[in-house]
Amino acid sequence: MIIENLKANLVVHPLPGEFHPAWGPGLTMRELPLTLIEITTDTGIKGYGALPASGKEGVVGVNTFIKDNLIGLDVFNIEEIEKVLRNASLRTIWPWGVEMAIWDIIGKDANRPVYKLMGGFQDEIKVYASLGEVRSAEDRVKEAIQIKEAGFSGIKLRFHDNDPSNDIKIARDVVEAVGESMEIMVDANQADALPGSKSVNQWDYYTALEVGKELEKMGIAWLEEPLPRFDIEGLKKLSNKLSIPIAGGEKNQMIAEFKQLIENDCYDILQGDASFSGGLFELRKIAGIAEAYHKKFIPHTWSNGIGLYANLQLAASLPNCPWFEYPYEKPGWDHAANNILFKEGLEIKNGYINVPQKPGLGFEIEPTQLEKYKV
Ligand SMILES: [Mg+2]
Repeated sequence: MIIENLKANLVVHPLPGEFHPAWGPGLTMRELPLTLIEITTDTGIKGYGALPASGKEGVVGVNTFIKDNLIGLDVFNIEEIEKVLRNASLRTIWPWGVEMAIWDIIGKDANRPVYKLMGGFQDEIKVYASLGEVRSAEDRVKEAIQIKEAGFSGIKLRFHDNDPSNDIKIARDVVEAVGESMEIMVDANQADALPGSKSVNQWDYYTALEVGKELEKMGIAWLEEPLPRFDIEGLKKLSNKLSIPIAGGEKNQMIAEFKQLIENDCYDILQGDASFSGGLFELRKIAGIAEAYHKKFIPHTWSNGIGLYANLQLAASLPNCPWFEYPYEKPGWDHAANNILFKEGLEIKNGYINVPQKPGLGFEIEPTQLEKYKV
């Protein structure tokens, strides 16, 4: 099956409310841009993928570095396709969403959801609500109860106070309120920040160690991104000192980086993302390396709806992925933000997310929505 054409379009859809990302202190989001990829083949099968976007950089990058090198290739030659994407990734963009569209095609051709072609391990996954903002302990206790009622098994808090003892208090209050019946995770988002964020205190190794010790006592499921992305020595030391699992890697890229993180024992849980870290096939290989080292691979999923579905297919294929991250922060980012481009949304029930069984990545684009938000 031959790739006949590839179109990249900027799509900007509204968010259901204002959203203040913990990883971009001082910033407010009202809409979400993405680069929509549409690939057509000589058999007539069409596939969709998406790149994270800030503006037109994805469209320019795909048209400049990828399009001509991909047209004419065999859809099933993933290794050759990944070579083209890796080369493009060194020239300004995260191109991995192009491979999502390829797998969407392969799944449709096989009449199977993608996870069934990559390991097919689980049809439902325990799901946690991944909060995106920093709020007061009082608000979080109230919301944790609502989130449990909405069908989630866990909740991930964001830490970003200049004084970590304020963050620790939030975790303690939430553990007291719902800790018996829900798993609680903490994301410190210390690895980087969105361009344009206001500058806040960055944790050093000793802060991360002290916070980690406190969270350990509370039985927090994991501490995420406690240190900068490439602080291999700090992460390694921290992981060795703490028994609470350390998670990270959401914007590390490709096998060589993950191999270094895994071999140095930087993280107990690797969080590569099909939008940011590599093609789905490369991430499947990385998850296999993690498995050999008795580590979990639980994809990061905050990008856009299509990225969420792609990561769900990856997660469902894996034997070492016990959780699925579902971006959920009312009112700015809830089911509407994740599912706005599709005919049907994802289903969360009794603590689990059901893996969609439609062929390919599992979604069906709603054409009227696409036309409305295409720039
Ligand atoms: Mg994170």
